[in-house]
Amino acid sequence: MDDIRCFCCEKQLPEGSLKYVVEIKSFADFDCFLEDYPGDVEEGMMELLEEMEDVDAKVLEDDVYQEMIFVLCKECRDKFYKNPFQSTQQFYVDKEIKGSIH
Ligand SMILES: [Zn+2]
Repeated sequence: MDDIRCFCCEKQLPEGSLKYVVEIKSFADFDCFLEDYPGDVEEGMMELLEEMEDVDAKVLEDDVYQEMIFVLCKECRDKFYKNPFQSTQQFYVDKEIKGSIH
């Protein structure tokens, strides 16, 4: 059997024990607002596409979307859920924030 440990406290999580999977997904937000482009937009798009050809596809993908998966024990999951980023800011549970970031 694989040795499964909590990502935070490294406590062993034997088969049949309570464990939690935390998935973190981050993706580039689009708020439908495009910056004023000084010049011909079509030309700018062509330049951008040419630049993208030189960039590694994985790097490009990571810029847009990333996913991380962690296994946690109950105590660490509870702590994580109360304050995922150890921040003093109030966090939003509301999905309405998507597409509204400026
Ligand atoms: Zn733990």
